[in-house]
Amino acid sequence: MDERDFEQRAAYVIPAEIIHRDGQVWMQKVCPEHGLIVDLLSSDAVFTARMESLYHPQDPNREPPSGPRRKPSGLMLVIDLTNRCNMKCSPCFMDANHQPYVREATVENVREILNRAADSKSRRDLDILFSGGEPTISPIFLECLRVAKGIGFGRLHVATNGIRFAQEDDFARKAKDAGLHGVFLQFDGVSNEANAHRGISNLFDVKLAALERIHQAGLYAALQVTVANTVNSTEIGKIVEFAVKSIDRIHSVLFQPLVFTGRDQLPADEDRWHRRYTLAHLAHDLNAQSRFEWLPLRDWFPISASGAFGNVLDALGLGVNLRSPAHDLHATHGQFSILLVDTKTHQAVPLSAFFLMDRFLQDATVIARESGSPFRARVLLGASILRNLELQHAPSGLALGSLGQLFRQLAGRIQKSKVEEADKSRWQFLPINAVWFEDPFNVDFEAVCRSCAPVATEEGEFSFCSYNSMGWRQIVESRHRTADLSEWHREKGRHAIFANGATVPLERLTAGGSHPTPISSSGNPLA
Ligand code: SF4
Repeated sequence: MDERDFEQRAAYVIPAEIIHRDGQVWMQKVCPEHGLIVDLLSSDAVFTARMESLYHPQDPNREPPSGPRRKPSGLMLVIDLTNRCNMKCSPCFMDANHQPYVREATVENVREILNRAADSKSRRDLDILFSGGEPTISPIFLECLRVAKGIGFGRLHVATNGIRFAQEDDFARKAKDAGLHGVFLQFDGVSNEANAHRGISNLFDVKLAALERIHQAGLYAALQVTVANTVNSTEIGKIVEFAVKSIDRIHSVLFQPLVFTGRDQLPADEDRWHRRYTLAHLAHDLNAQSRFEWLPLRDWFPISASGAFGNVLDALGLGVNLRSPAHDLHATHGQFSILLVDTKTHQAVPLSAFFLMDRFLQDATVIARESGSPFRARVLLGASILRNLELQHAPSGLALGSLGQLFRQLAGRIQKSKVEEADKSRWQFLPINAVWFEDPFNVDFEAVCRSCAPVATEEGEFSFCSYNSMGWRQIVESRHRTADLSEWHREKGRHAIFANGATVPLERLTAGGSHPTPISSSGNPLA
């Protein structure tokens, strides 16, 4: 491997045609190697057009990346600690446990990456996401948290299947003490059957046990859902319902439609079209599967639009610069909807059912640009909130007096430089985020340029999609391999892998510790 590998990969761009047909959006391109490739970009062209119309880039002139980026950018920096995993499920975007080599980060690698991010001249507030493979089986996981915290990063997260959190009594507590802030918990459905495609017979029980321990340790949990059409697309409404009922322990839900890469990188066309799931599918299916009205054309917004709100917070003089390039995330690749949950009744309603978000976003842009002083910004913001609020459509029990608390809650979630305190009030926001990563069949270079979750490596930073779907992962991991697999097994032994319908041994949780009885799905709030 040499520098030419990087240059050749970066230069391999295929022009594509975007076609609107039968109310859907398709991409068509001809690859010199693989011939004609046709794929679905959106099941609803009107929904997609609306997202594009609401796009709010912070930096419309951002330069396309060419090969690895030396200069940090983005909102959440992903750092892989290992390519090993204690599961062997399908799908797996990075094909864990299938490479002929092991790649383990060292504390020094991670320190160097974090220092580079901290020294970045561009001012940004970064979340750090430790990932893998399964990062919690890395022997340096806790040490990396301490290093990141020592350098000054306040919001440290881990993307995990939850097995170690579920199995070990004090793992969540140790991680919290080391500096962990939040857990992105892989979560594909609300029963063991709905998770069975990942090769573990009691995977939902694992998730419940993990969530309990994460909560007891005072960590935030976000459910991270990989959605594949016809595999678990009928579960998504139940997942949101689960999150609403567990609002005391779930901070947000992140839906990520399946990406055809890693374990799934060469599906037959029919199989790919069958399982392909777009963000428009998601918005429509959530409406169809929910107890409340959740309208695709009223309640969904591009993630970049949250930047408009961030700009207003800047204008209020709260001392935080929120002009993060992360909000440039392409309109068709990152979307969100905000639910307001009544913790008393466990009813949820989309915020935009009683608050005119479209008009508020327009107001926010004007306030941020033209208010001139923090005082004037506050007055204008108050007026905008009042003119866009439709209290007659608000959930019963929500009074004008709750607005201040709600505003502080939303601001706390957006202010990236501050770790928000737990808010115990009756009304809680539940952000539902959706990010559509790309694979070789639907890659859009424009979207790659607007990635918000770069993967940081010894070679610089890569957009998440180009790293995982366009071959960079294999190049970097192979170049920085720690040992051949056989050599690793000889020296370190084999790590445990739960697969082929295995059951993960669990112990029942009690308030004060553990009890040696297998846990069951009875902890499910939906049961
Ligand atoms: S939990 Fe599954 S998807 Fe995640 S890294 Fe392990 S094998 Fe891959």
